[in-house]
Order: sequence, then structure tokens, then C-alpha cells
Amino acid sequence: MSYNLAIDGPAGAGKSTIAKKVAKKLSFIYVDTGAMYRAMGIFFCDLNIGSDEEEKISEACSKVEIQIAYENGEQQVFLNGVNVTGRLRTEEAGNMASSISIYPEVRKKLVELQKNMAASDNVVMDGRDIGTAVLPSAQLKIYLTASTHVRALRRWNELNAKGIESNLDAIEADIADRDYRDMHREISPLCQAEDAVFLDTSDMTIDQVTDKILELAAERFH
Ligand code: C5P
Repeated sequence: MSYNLAIDGPAGAGKSTIAKKVAKKLSFIYVDTGAMYRAMGIFFCDLNIGSDEEEKISEACSKVEIQIAYENGEQQVFLNGVNVTGRLRTEEAGNMASSISIYPEVRKKLVELQKNMAASDNVVMDGRDIGTAVLPSAQLKIYLTASTHVRALRRWNELNAKGIESNLDAIEADIADRDYRDMHREISPLCQAEDAVFLDTSDMTIDQVTDKILELAAERFH
């Protein structure tokens, strides 16, 4: 039997930062499912398929192979054999991922891969539907969120630190749009699983959130 920790929440809540730290402490594998949707998004972009072309997208799903590997503990995503990890973290890839993640063929493909990974390994997996659809039997589920403004500010600071100029209002509007799409789609919309622990990180530091989750993990994973 493997131990599964599911972390869901909206964009910019700090899921990947926290999940990575928690996974390291627990010696579990960290699975970033958003990266898989982003890689799928890149695949359709490269084929010049628009995010609203459902038929073409569903058809192209049979020609895409996503594989996950780990290098020095860091997740690497392979798209038809090519490592695309360096292309995943752009706003464009994020928006494309959010737009194509509404299609059943896309979700079916990725959910299967995610379930297989969690069946064979102890994982900390983050995303939007992990506690509700991918790992409904996870021993610990966390719903991580923060106010839209705080999430936008975090993103703005991140870009600023990299020397990239950006507009806070535009980032906030983008986050609100993405939240709306993720929470209102028909299949597996983002929502808190009934048995998930709710954590609002607006006024918490990364270490405080990490410690809280590790405390809960110690109780649940004997
Ligand atoms: O978490 P990240 O921002 O990388 O996710 C990109 C997009 O992929 C999300 O906005 C969401 O639409 C989609 N996604 C999803 N289900 C997941 C993970 C991500 O629909 N489990």
C-alpha cells in the first residue's frame, strides 16, 4: 500500500512550493499535475490547434505521450520523448492548460497516468481535482488557498525578482479568470473535497504552512 497526500487549490496558492517541501521531508515523490496539463497545452499550441477546437484536440490526444521522470528529485516532463520542462512555466502555457483541461479526452489521459503513479509510490500530488477525482482515497487531503490579491502579489513579486516587469492589476484579473474557469468547468471542477483540511495561507509563511501539513501527515500516516 502506498501513502497519498493530495493538495488542491487555485492558481498561486503556493501548492507547488509547499508540496515540494513536504514531499522532501516525508521522502515521498512530488507529482505536479499542472505541469502535465501545461505540457498537453504546449503540444496543441505547437500543432497550431486552438483551445476551442475540441474535436481536433480530442483526436490529437491519441498521438500524445506524456512521461514523468525525476532528475535530482526534480520532476521532468517529457512530451513525445522530448523534455519540455523548461517551457512549462509561462503565462501562455498556464492559460492554454486551463483552457484545454475542460475536455474529457485530455483529463482521461492524464488522470490515468496520475492514478498509476500514486498506486505504486508514496506521493504528494498537487492540482485541482486530486482529492475529489484522482485520489479520492488519499489518507490526507489539503485544500490550499489565499485571497486573489495575495496570490497576485506573490506572482508579481516572483516576476519582479526575475527582473520581469508586470502589472499587478492585470495579474489579478488573469488569476480571477483562471479561478472562474477552473471552478466552473463541467468535469472535475476545482472544489474542496468534503474530507479535505482547509488552509488559507494569506497570512501564513511557507514554513508555517509546511509545518502544519507535516503535523497532519504525522497523525494520518502511521
Ligand atoms: O497548477 P498549474 O497552474 O500549473 O495548472 C495549470 C492549469 O491546469 C490549471 O489552471 C487547471 O486548469 C489545469 N489543471 C487541472 N487539473 C489539475 C491540475 C491542473 O485542470 N489536476
